[in-house]
Amino acid sequence: MLFYNLNKPSEKVDFKTATIQGLGSEKGLFFPERIPVFPVSWIADLENISNEEIAWVVMKDYVGHSIPEKMLRQIVAETIDFDIPLVRVSENISTLELFHGPTLAFKDVGARFMSRCLGYFMQHQDRPITVLVATSGDTGGAVASGFLGVEGVEVVILYPSGKVSAVQELQLTTPGQNITALEVNGSFDDCQTLVKQVFSDPELNEKIFLTSANSINVARWLPQQIYYFLAWKQWKNKSKPPVISVPSGNFGNICAGLLAYHSGLPVNHFIAACNVNAVVPAFLKTGIYQPVKAKPSLSNAMDVGDPSNFVRVMALFNAQFEPLKKMMSSESITDEETGDAIKTLYSEYGYAADPHGAVGWLALSRWLKSHPGQEGIFLETAHPVKFPEIVEKFTGKPIDVPVAVQELFVKKKNSFRIPADYEDFKNYLLNRKR
Ligand SMILES: *Cc1c(COP(=O)(O)O)cnc(C)c1O
Repeated sequence: MLFYNLNKPSEKVDFKTATIQGLGSEKGLFFPERIPVFPVSWIADLENISNEEIAWVVMKDYVGHSIPEKMLRQIVAETIDFDIPLVRVSENISTLELFHGPTLAFKDVGARFMSRCLGYFMQHQDRPITVLVATSGDTGGAVASGFLGVEGVEVVILYPSGKVSAVQELQLTTPGQNITALEVNGSFDDCQTLVKQVFSDPELNEKIFLTSANSINVARWLPQQIYYFLAWKQWKNKSKPPVISVPSGNFGNICAGLLAYHSGLPVNHFIAACNVNAVVPAFLKTGIYQPVKAKPSLSNAMDVGDPSNFVRVMALFNAQFEPLKKMMSSESITDEETGDAIKTLYSEYGYAADPHGAVGWLALSRWLKSHPGQEGIFLETAHPVKFPEIVEKFTGKPIDVPVAVQELFVKKKNSFRIPADYEDFKNYLLNRKR
């Protein structure tokens, strides 16, 4: 299968090139040339198929000849080698817990898949590749964990000093080996700008083999489909497909769900649950897409003012507004409502949600109130322990700290501080020991 550049459709590349390059020319995102449709009988039989087999079937057409079958089977098995349970919360609501991976957020799935694919591709390259990634919190840890110890790959993570949670900072600053954390005196936007500048610097790209591991890479985007199929595998009421609410920021996760739907996965409706950064909710109301500067919120991984994957959502619906609106709604939830949602979920249903999951739950609850008889799933995208102050404030109860996090707290943070200045960053990249 080939992928075409959404900004320049004549540019077509295979999975390997799309993964190594990340982005096409004119900053265009890659998009699959065709979407595989799985047989109805296969989907009806998911309960009897192993998770590994499901994951392989979902991914194999996209990867095509870039990776041999045996290797791809191993990669997808490692990608999902942790629990992804569908947990009942109330009579008509369940949650798909995506936080049981090594860094306790759903980004582990995409990062584990991408790191293994890139590691495989690098076996046949004569020089190492440097992966750059800017993070507002969860991506850095997931990418560090995914790439740790991968031969031929060096990872440089840029994160904004003082603006990530304690657990997040330890996850990205303590792995060591081929992972380096740069603590930038600036904001997440500054980090992202530094990374983007690198890719328009011919001198640097000549001297160093560079790529980025942000969420627009097809190797991070596509494997997220797998867990939508695993949700259906666990869904009891097969005669009534679920409404699925996805806490959304850059819209990669929900776009993967929509892709699964186009491949035949039964879904009644999607809800893109946003915080106060309401570009898409406004677009679905007015038809006008107006990017804004991101505002900070309690669900900080969704503080995005111009979701980069939204062009892919539009492409999936051939840029047709009405069909998109029929299949996907979007709701904006304020911080106050998020806090109330955490509180209600805990006091009424005994479920401790993180702020992102709470946004997803509230948007879903509202939908189900106005659509009686339907049932739904909200994705729980991070473990509450990643946001302990917020969660404990609204539940009034201390969070159980998983062993993986207890082990983190005895480690020592290791980062290089740099100013938010391109020349400093460039010098760092050129002069570091490799
Ligand atoms: C990244 C992230 C999101 C947003 O996902 P997108 O794919 O960018 O829409 C939601 N919740 C958590 C916890 C995240 O880390």
